[in-house]
Amino acid sequence: MSKLLIGGELVDAVKKETYEVRNPATGQVVDQAAKGSEEDVRQAVDAAETAFKEWSDTTPEDRGKALESACELIQERSKDIAALLTQEQGKTLFEAGLEIHHLIHGLEFYAGLASKVRGSHVPLPQKNAYGMVVRQPIGVCGAIVPWNFPLTLMGTKVGPALAAGNTIIVKPASTTPLATALCMELIAQATYAGGKKSLPAGTVNFVSGPGGSVGEELLSNPRIRRIAFTGSTPIGRHVMEVAGREIKRVTLELGGSDPMIVMEDANVDMAVKMADIGRYFNCGQMCLGVKRLFVHESVAEDFVSKLAAGLQKKAVGDGMKKESRMGPLHVDYQRTEVEEQVEDAKARGAKAVAGGARPEGDEFKNGHFYLPTLLTDVPDDARIATEECFGPALPVFTFKDLDEAIERANASEFGLGSSIWTSNMVYANKAIDRLEAGNVWVNSLHYGYDELPFGGVKSSGVGREHGPEALDYYLEPKGVVVVNV
Ligand code: NAP
Repeated sequence: MSKLLIGGELVDAVKKETYEVRNPATGQVVDQAAKGSEEDVRQAVDAAETAFKEWSDTTPEDRGKALESACELIQERSKDIAALLTQEQGKTLFEAGLEIHHLIHGLEFYAGLASKVRGSHVPLPQKNAYGMVVRQPIGVCGAIVPWNFPLTLMGTKVGPALAAGNTIIVKPASTTPLATALCMELIAQATYAGGKKSLPAGTVNFVSGPGGSVGEELLSNPRIRRIAFTGSTPIGRHVMEVAGREIKRVTLELGGSDPMIVMEDANVDMAVKMADIGRYFNCGQMCLGVKRLFVHESVAEDFVSKLAAGLQKKAVGDGMKKESRMGPLHVDYQRTEVEEQVEDAKARGAKAVAGGARPEGDEFKNGHFYLPTLLTDVPDDARIATEECFGPALPVFTFKDLDEAIERANASEFGLGSSIWTSNMVYANKAIDRLEAGNVWVNSLHYGYDELPFGGVKSSGVGREHGPEALDYYLEPKGVVVVNV
């Protein structure tokens, strides 16, 4: 059974409640998890406040070393973590391995940055005086994580929080607590000062349990000064409202409906390959997934037939099986939503040139499987185009010129990622300039690099994760004036 981690101890929930975590591929119980509540969060806050005094007083180099040590501990257990992640989330073992690699890479990035935080010296108008900007940790942070990438999205919060000298309480999605619990336990065992010192008890805490109790307490507890939330746009709005009442520092990484624009001069074979990964990796459950494909009318037929041919061969199955290339959707309601979006498009005249249904066969009957789906002739106002589609279905639209493609790409409430595929730098620069998105990839897979800031505009969020920029959200700039007397 996975427990809570509070003040350095693995503990049961105060109410002693537990719940079952089920495998989305088989419906079988993977394990039990502790079901925390408001009181568990309050205990975690006590522990994190106590730890903050010691942790914020460590040297930046020590904090970097501790993060490096956490990476080593996670690496040593990566096979166990991957198996847990696949069983609770549904992704393939290959995808789970990549997620762990990304987690470690991200933590290492912040390990390196811990000692590179800079303040500034500011000349002032009067004589004998100068200003400074000193950057200080905020205090206890709360991290709320979704189920699609439980580990990397935990790491994008824990890494910068710890590097900056804060302490943290992590709440996973209720359906994916297991791999995160193990990683948090390992991070809590991290050492520094040549192995002589351990992370102060309570520097990292983990409370699994429902959003309605554990999540709400994180949002409303005034002693938690910062909330990093990744999840859906509707819950994100709620997070901002509740945490806003306490004037917390809030970042929101929310939904997306990323456009991918393929110009007439694109390398079609490369773009087809990246559309396949960009949409169907993790069974299409990616915030930055390719969700609307715009292909120039002169190359559309070639593009669609190549992409459809690849999808028809993609092996769907239990992520624990070596031959599986795409697992099930994580939860049944998510599959239902994708099905409804596909059926809505079909009812408006769309054609499924690949998939468009559940796979048949006994091995699929207990899981939330859906075939990789490609739709043509989709009207712009179909649900799959106007809503976020969080699963393995992709609508293709054709266009005549780049201005039209950009206008239709921007006609979305979301603005997370976007890409353009072209060998013409004039096209590329126009897209970089005009696409309404937090990220633009040119001839490149939709991917959240640890080195670059990642986040959304419009309904896709506020603030940035990844990159040195993420540290800004875990530090308070304090203005200082010094007058020589
Ligand atoms: P979700 O339903 O919004 O849940 C996200 C997290 O919020 C979960 O831990 C959930 O806990 C918690 N939560 C639910 N109600 C809450 C409340 N009242 N107070 C505080 N926390 C609460 O999202 P999801 O379905 O897990 O994830 C999919 C969504 O995340 C998609 O929209 C996707 O685009 C987005 N996403 C965005 C990014 C990005 O970087 N922009 C990255 C990945 C995913 P429970 O599980 O206990 O309900």
